[in-house]
Amino acid sequence: MAWRKALEKGYKRVGDISEQFQLSPNEETQLAEIISHYPMLIPEYYMSLINPQDKNDPIRRMCIPDLIEEENDGFLDTSGETENTVMTGMQHKYPQTVMILSTNQCAMYCRHCFRKRMVGITEEETVSKLPGIVDYIKTHKEINNILISGGDSFMNSNEAIQDYLESFTSIPHIDFIRFGTRMPVVLPQRITEDRELISLLSAYTRKKQIYIVTQFNHPRELTPQAVQAVDYLKQAGCIVRNQTVLLKGVNDQAEVLADLLNGLVKIGVIPYYIFQCRSVLGVKNQFQLPLSQGSSIVEQAKRKLSGQAKSVRYAMAHVSGKIEILGSMGDNSMIFKYHQAKNVDDASRIFIQKVTTTLGWLEDISQEGTCK
Ligand code: SF4
Repeated sequence: MAWRKALEKGYKRVGDISEQFQLSPNEETQLAEIISHYPMLIPEYYMSLINPQDKNDPIRRMCIPDLIEEENDGFLDTSGETENTVMTGMQHKYPQTVMILSTNQCAMYCRHCFRKRMVGITEEETVSKLPGIVDYIKTHKEINNILISGGDSFMNSNEAIQDYLESFTSIPHIDFIRFGTRMPVVLPQRITEDRELISLLSAYTRKKQIYIVTQFNHPRELTPQAVQAVDYLKQAGCIVRNQTVLLKGVNDQAEVLADLLNGLVKIGVIPYYIFQCRSVLGVKNQFQLPLSQGSSIVEQAKRKLSGQAKSVRYAMAHVSGKIEILGSMGDNSMIFKYHQAKNVDDASRIFIQKVTTTLGWLEDISQEGTCK
């Protein structure tokens, strides 16, 4: 497979990037240490999007390791994934949805990944026995959709993808299936040069609607190759939607964010979340913006958007649920609303929270809406 060969040739070691980014011997040593526990893999295609003259290039920030990743601030599991795991490789947080960790592999290891604890490192959390998962879903009739995530779900072989689709599309109470993948963004040839994958998706989406959930974070990622990959998926009958992560130094300007969201709508991809960057160890200090600043950027960007693009929600994937960040009250407080709640009593709950100008995450929310 051409895409597998492209990954074999990807940039993995410090020596692969040292000359291009003019790393000093000291930087080489430090980055090698980072890569030993937070792996690096960058396909040639994605590397070609970087402007090597610009140390602060947004594409570079998303894929080249930075010394700040070593700062000891943040948590490994900010969304309570461990406590939502009902069997190895499957999480069941909301009644109607299960999420499958199908692989720990990605075509590109995003420096901002919230599963940095596992991607490219350990298979402890990923699926080992599909039949047990299928049995669980069959006996839980409240589940109507399945998210196949990872890692990157399109890192699975076509045979493995077919196994998932064959198993899940035969369950009567499943309405739709989602694949979480950054392949259209980081390695579009996985889609454009693999007719077998497109045939599979085309066949199974006629049985149960398939959604592709991808993650474009910057308008420069919307290249002709990426647009072609999206086109192939749409022609196969899949619905393509986008989740953006709000990232310091990447898309934290209203114009950039608006260009991205308008660009997505232009190619028929509906943006549905802008996620607040989580307080992840190795991520927080490099990429997280304060909530008040993030809200201001999103609101300014929205002024440049059509209604289609404005359907996006600025949200945080919290331990207690998906919390929409509705906006600022102008008196150091902000309004939030549960979009998805783990606890039924929180469903649709709106609350007001005092925030400092530096607060980037809500750690512990009481029923009164106070953050401890
Ligand atoms: S593709 Fe997804 S899972 Fe993989 S590193 Fe990027 S954000 Fe993490």
